[in-house]
Amino acid sequence: MKIAVFSARPYDQQFLDEAKQRRGAGTSFEFLYFDAALEVHTAALAQDCEAVCVFVNDRLNAPVLQALHAQGVRAILLRCAGFNNVDLAAAEQLGLFVARVPAYSPEAVAEHALAMVMTLNRQTHRAYNRVREGNFMLDGLLGRTLHRKTVGIVGTGQIGLATARIFKGMGCTVLGYDPYPSPGFAAVGASVALEDLLARSDIVSLHCPLTPDTHHLIDDASLAAMKPGAMLVNTSRGGLVDTHAVIRALKSRRLGHLAIDVYEQESGLFFQDRSGEIIDDDAFQRLMTFPNVLVTGHQGFFTVEALQEISDITLRNLADFASGAACANRVRAV
Ligand code: NAD
Repeated sequence: MKIAVFSARPYDQQFLDEAKQRRGAGTSFEFLYFDAALEVHTAALAQDCEAVCVFVNDRLNAPVLQALHAQGVRAILLRCAGFNNVDLAAAEQLGLFVARVPAYSPEAVAEHALAMVMTLNRQTHRAYNRVREGNFMLDGLLGRTLHRKTVGIVGTGQIGLATARIFKGMGCTVLGYDPYPSPGFAAVGASVALEDLLARSDIVSLHCPLTPDTHHLIDDASLAAMKPGAMLVNTSRGGLVDTHAVIRALKSRRLGHLAIDVYEQESGLFFQDRSGEIIDDDAFQRLMTFPNVLVTGHQGFFTVEALQEISDITLRNLADFASGAACANRVRAV
C-alpha cells in the first residue's frame, strides 16, 4: 500500500521509516514523502495512493477530500491529536477512514508550556544575548517567583493535566476549567467556572481543542476578565485566541505577557524557513515588536519520544485500516 505523506520534513521521514523498521519485514507500506502541504492544488500528489498521512496545517476541507477520494484515497492518517483541519462530515459521507494520534507524550507539550513561562518570566532569552555581548546588567530582567502563584488550566485533558501537575510541583495553586474534567485533575487542582479562573489566575494556559465553541475563547471580554498583568499561554491551537484582541490588551498593558506556540494564521508561516522574506502578516509582525511576547513555531510536540510515538501509533492506525480491524483512534463526525 502506498501512502502519500504531506508536510513531510526530514524528521518525519526519519521517524516514520524507523517505525516501519520496528514493525518488521512483513510491513507492506510504502511512504511517499512530499514537502508540500496538502491543499486542493497538491492533492494530485496522492495519485496511486490508498492513504494520506497529514499534519496540523494540511487542509482537508470538502473539495480536498473529494479530490483525494476520486483518486482512490480511502484513509486519512493524522500525525497529530487535533483534527480541526478535517471536514469530518464530508469524510464520513465519502466513507473515508480518519484516525489520529490522540496522546503522544502529553508531557512534551506541557514541558514546552513550562519552558515558555520560565523564559518569559525570567527573560532568559534576553539574558542569553546580553551575557554573550559582555553585558551583565540585570536591569529589565526582573521576574516573579512562581511559587504560590495561581495557574489556570483551560482544558484539563491529557496535556492540561500534565501541565497542572508540573505547576503543582512548583508550589503553585492550580485551577482548572473543563466542561468534562478528567478524573485525575481533582488530585491536583480545583475545578472552577471559566470567569473565576480568568479572574484569579496569574498564568492562564490553554489546553482545550479548537472547535466552533472554543474559537476565539480568548477575546476582548475574556482578556478584560483576566487579572491585570497576567500571562496568557497558548500551546493548543491558534484559533482559540483572537490575535487582534490580544494585541489591544498588550498595548493597553492589561495583558502582562503572551507566550504562544500556535498562531491563528500559522499555516502560511510555521514549519517553513521564511527568513530573508518579507512577511506580510501585519498582526504577526506587530506581535513580534512586544518585548513581553514569546512565539515559538508549533514545537510543543517536538521531542524524540513524541515523534517515536506519533510514528508508531500512525503505523498501528494504518495497519488497522489495512486489516479492517477496529481502530481505537478512529475519528468520526458527531
Ligand atoms: P484532550 O482531548 O486529552 O483534552 C482536551 C480537554 O479539553 C478535554 O478534557 C475536553 O473536555 C476539554 N474541553 C473541550 N472543550 C472545552 C472548553 N470549551 N473549555 C475548556 N475545556 C474544554 O486533548 P490533549 O491531548 O490534552 O490536547 C489538547 C490540545 O493540545 C489539542 O486539541 C491540540 O490542539 C493541542 N496540541 C498541541 C500540540 C503542540 O505541539 N503545540 C501538540 C499536541 C496537541
